[in-house]
Amino acid sequence: MEIFVRPGDSFWYYSQVFNLPYQVIIDSNRNLNAQELIPNQPVQIPGYVTSPYTVQRGDTVWSIAQRINLPMDAIFLLNSGISPYALQVGTQLLLPVRITWRVVNGKQNYDYSMMVQDIRTLQAIYPFLVNESIGNSVLNKEIPGLTIGKGQKRVHYNASFHANEWITTAIVMTFLNDYLLSLTNNGSIRGLYTLPLYNQTSLNIVPMVNPDGVDLVLNGPPENETIRNNLIEWNKGSTDFSDWKANINGVDLNDQFPAEWELERERNPKTPGPRDYGGESPLSEPESIAMAELTVERDFARVLAFHTQGQVIFWGFMGLEPPETEQLVNEFARVSGYKPVQTIESYAGYKDWFIQDWRRPGFTVELGLGTNPLPISQFDEIYEEALGIFLSALYM
Ligand SMILES: [Zn+2]
Repeated sequence: MEIFVRPGDSFWYYSQVFNLPYQVIIDSNRNLNAQELIPNQPVQIPGYVTSPYTVQRGDTVWSIAQRINLPMDAIFLLNSGISPYALQVGTQLLLPVRITWRVVNGKQNYDYSMMVQDIRTLQAIYPFLVNESIGNSVLNKEIPGLTIGKGQKRVHYNASFHANEWITTAIVMTFLNDYLLSLTNNGSIRGLYTLPLYNQTSLNIVPMVNPDGVDLVLNGPPENETIRNNLIEWNKGSTDFSDWKANINGVDLNDQFPAEWELERERNPKTPGPRDYGGESPLSEPESIAMAELTVERDFARVLAFHTQGQVIFWGFMGLEPPETEQLVNEFARVSGYKPVQTIESYAGYKDWFIQDWRRPGFTVELGLGTNPLPISQFDEIYEEALGIFLSALYM
C-alpha cells in the first residue's frame, strides 16, 4: 500500500500508526532517505492493501477507525481531503486493510509461471522482499533469487534442482509467504517470534533452480521441434516426463559441481537423459553456473538444498564438514522426524561442493516419502515436517 508523506511524518511514526516493525518499513523504502522525508513523496507500507469504502449514515472517522482497529490517522493518511468533524454520507474513502492471509497456494501443480506470479504478488505486498535474478536457464527463463532480512547470518535455501521434485518449490514458497506474513503481523511461527530472525539473518532463497525441467515435467516438452525430438529420444521414446530430474539439456544439475565430479561420472550415464548424467565437464550448464556464482558472491554461512524424497538429511562430504554440522542436523532431525545420514556414495552435488570448498554446514534435505513426483496430497504433511527445519536453520 502506498501513502504520501506529510510534513513532520517519519518512518517511525508510520510504524506506530500501522503497528509494523520499524525495520520492515525502512527496508520497503530503500530508495528513500529515512532522515529526510520530503512532503508528497510516496512511501510503501508493507502488509497492507487498500479497499474502497462509502461513508454511511452515522459513520465517524473514529467509528471507522475502531472497526478496522487502527488509529484515526491511518484513515487521514489515505484520505488527505476529508474533514475529521464533518464526514459526508456517500463520500468515497480508501481504507487500509491488513493482510492476514496467505497469497501463495502451493497445493497445486506449481510451475514456473505460478512461481513468478506469486513472487510479484509477494513483492507488491511486502516490498522489503528483494528479488534479484541469479541467471537464466537454457531456455532463457530468469532464475529468481529472493533475499529477506539484512542480518549478519547468511542462510541459503534452494529447491527444485531436480525437475520432478517441484513440490519442493511449492513448499519453500509457502514458507516464504508465512515468514513475510508473520513479520507484518508481529507474529510467531510455532511460538518463535520472527522479527528477531529477520534482524539477525539474511535468508537467500532460490525457489526453482531448474525451471525448464519443472515445466517439462508439469507441462510437457516445449514447442520447438529440435528440442522436443531430442528430449523424447533421451527419454527412450516416451512423452511421459514424470521421471525427469535433469535440465532441458538432459544434464543432472546436482551432478555438476566440482567435488569429485570424475568419481560421480564413472558410475553414471555418459549421455544426456532423465537423470544422473553430469555433463561433459563440471559446471557446463547455465543453471549450475548461476548457483555456483551466487554461492561464491554471497558467502553463505550454511546452505540447505531441498529435494524429495526419503525423509532423510544428508550432511557430510568426505569428512570435510565442520563439527557444528552434527549439532545442526540433530536439531533438524528432532523437529522433522527425519533421519540424519552423514555420507553415502555420491559426489558432485551442490552441498558436497559447498562443504568441500567452504568447510561450512551444507545439507541435502529429502522431503516426504514415496515415488517422485510426490502427490500434492502430501503437501500439508511435508510442510509440517519442513517447517521445523526452515525455522531452526535460521534460529540456531
Ligand atoms: Zn533430488
